[in-house]
Formats: sequence, structure tokens, C-alpha cells
Amino acid sequence: MSTSSPPSRRFSLPLRARLATTVGGAAGRASRLAGRGDGSVIGGVIGLRLKPDLLSLLARGRQVVLVTGTNGKTTTTRLITAALSALGQQIASNAFGANMEAGLVSALAKAPDATLAVLEVDEKYMPAMLTATSARVVVLLNLSRDQMDRAAEIWMLARRWRTALAAAQVRVIANADDPLVAWAAGQARQVTWVAAGQRWHDDSWCCPNCGSHLRRDGEDWYCGECPNRRPPVRWALVGDEVIDAAGRARPLDLALPGRANRSNAVVAFAVAEVFGIGVTQAMEPVRQVRSVAGRYTQVERNGTALRLLLAKNPAGWLEALDVLVPPPVPVLLAVNAQTPDGKDTSWLWDVDYRRLRGRPVFVAGERQLDLAVRLEADEVAFRMVGGIDEAIAAARGPSMEVIANYTAFQQIRAALGRVG
Ligand SMILES: [Zn+2]
Repeated sequence: MSTSSPPSRRFSLPLRARLATTVGGAAGRASRLAGRGDGSVIGGVIGLRLKPDLLSLLARGRQVVLVTGTNGKTTTTRLITAALSALGQQIASNAFGANMEAGLVSALAKAPDATLAVLEVDEKYMPAMLTATSARVVVLLNLSRDQMDRAAEIWMLARRWRTALAAAQVRVIANADDPLVAWAAGQARQVTWVAAGQRWHDDSWCCPNCGSHLRRDGEDWYCGECPNRRPPVRWALVGDEVIDAAGRARPLDLALPGRANRSNAVVAFAVAEVFGIGVTQAMEPVRQVRSVAGRYTQVERNGTALRLLLAKNPAGWLEALDVLVPPPVPVLLAVNAQTPDGKDTSWLWDVDYRRLRGRPVFVAGERQLDLAVRLEADEVAFRMVGGIDEAIAAARGPSMEVIANYTAFQQIRAALGRVG
């Protein structure tokens, strides 16, 4: 990798692309000033309207890492950015999770001189964004139902990934523990397999290759009817330790909580390796990541220390329930059903809430009644509240955990003032 100063990229863009990024950037600033979000999407939307191939132009000459999957994209993107900071170069990233084309355009336009880019991509857009950016690395974390998705849609998505990856010149970093992901990466030319774990098994009982029943034996999985099986891994998380390609174990003492985040860190090390960065070099910046787009942030509110956890789908809820500090610390659960959340809340029935027993539980959000019915069924005692402040007043404790789905999470962040 060249260590000389990177060439200025902005002036290599054609005139219309330059205009599109300038107008888009101005719109993003205007949007921020108007208090309408962080402006990371509107600039990209306007830019793309003026210049539809803007993303390809902006990605040209950069080394791009795309990160996709149902859960953990934003956190893993942040951890990879931290790991690659060892290179000492400017890195473009959509750190706040704007992960469709306009969000990617915006992230690249804001960092015209960055020769590296780490970009989170919505799972459905990955094939198109892979083509548009000619990415050097694509990271596949997991595939499970998100809100209203049904199994058939996830399988279709895996098939589109498989086709796209078979045709691309790209290094794939893929989770060997997720059979759908393993199948999707199965025809790619260069794959680094990572044992990144699979918390949610319910969407992968069938062999993606032949439809037969998949068998599981500890962490291993295989099909009884065809040769499809878990590929041998180069990187693994074992307990609290990362095991590298040479079999060396190092303790992962992260500031971020939970097993899911330790897995995400192992993925970040596997990406760093592609760029010539060893675990020792990447460890410290990865350990120091404390909050990601407001998640895991500790905030003080009326004398109570709150920790904010985002859970958008069944797998996300399992991860959030995993990292809760033990009872009697109270928990506030908030569920909405706006468009970004999915209108259908039947997925609440896929999550086992029984482990919330034995601590104060508060329920808020537009769909608090749906959640209340669900908790009743699991015999979890709870109290309905009008929002975060009512929960704090009722609990009157030194700390509280908050788990919310997407728009409920954003509303709580807004109520607390923009945090993290
Ligand atoms: Zn099979």
C-alpha cells in the first residue's frame, strides 16, 4: 500500500459529478440545520438525481469494504473502521447506518480524499452496490428474518448474493456458522471463513443447497443428503478469545458488551488481515470502541444511568437480552411499528422473554399493547408507561437498561438529546 499522500480525488470527478456532490452536500447541510436528521441521506438523494452513476464515480480509485447482513452491520462497520485506523489513512464511512445507495454516496462525497471506505450496505442492495463500488472486500455477517421478511425472501436474497459473489473479483469475509451465508459465499473465488457464531437458528434448518434437513453437532453443521457442510474456518471466537489463522489465542477485552460484539470484532480482525494489519496492531483501537451510533451509550437522566440497546428483529432481541446486566436492574422495552420497523409485530412471538422475569419491566412505544400481550403469555410481570421519563420516575433506581426497536430507539435518543 502506498504511503505517499493520496491524490486529490475531488478534481478527478467529471464536472456534472462535481456539481452533484456539491449540491448534494449543500442539501445535507441544509437538512442538518433544519433539524431534519443528520443530513446523511438527503444530500445523496439529490446528488443521485443529478448524476445516477455518482456512486461508481465516487468509489473509483478507492479501496472499498462493504459490510452486510441482517444484524450487526453498523457495529461491525465501526469496528472495521477502528481496526483499519492502524493504517493512518483517512477512511470514509456511513457511520450512522444510512445504508442504501444515497447513504453510500453521501459518505463518499463527504470524504473526497479518503482512499479507504468502510460502508455498511442493506442486504437487499449488496449485489448492486458491489458492482457500483468494485469493492475489494465484502463482509457477510448473517441472514435471518428482519421484521416482515419471510423465509422465502431470505432464501431469494441468499441466491442473489451467491450469483453476485460468483461473478465478482472480491475477497469475501463470511460467517461459516450461518448456513445461508456459507451457501451464498460458496461460489466466490476468494473466501476467508470466520466462525462468527449464529445466535438465531430458526431460519436455517434446511440445507440451502438441496432443501434437506440440516444437522447440527455442537458448532458444526452439515447436510445429510448432499456435500454441503460448514467450511473450515481461518478465524474464530472461542469463549472470550480470538483465535487467529496461526492458532494463536488472544483475550478480547472489549468496551462493547456481549458475545455478538466479540464476534463482530473477530470479523474486523479478518478484514484487517486483508490490509496487512495484524491482531496486535488492530486490538487497541477495536477495544476502545464504546458506543456505535448511540447504541450501548450510557446516558444520565434524572439521576438514573441509562444504557441504550437497539433490537430490530428476533435475532437482535436475543442479542440484547444476552447483554442485559443481571436483575434487579430494571428494563424498559419500547416497540413501534412504523415503516422502518415493519408494520407487523407478530415477530414478537418468536422471542423468548422469560428471562426478563424477576426484575422490574416497563413497556412503552406505539405497540406497547402487543408487547404487553406477549409478556403476559411468558408470565413476565410488567408495567405500562408513557415513555422514558415515566419509567425512570417509577423505577427510581441508579441504573436502567433500555431495549427498543428502530424508530422507538430514535425517539428515545431524541428525548434524551442526541447522544453518542
Ligand atoms: Zn443438502
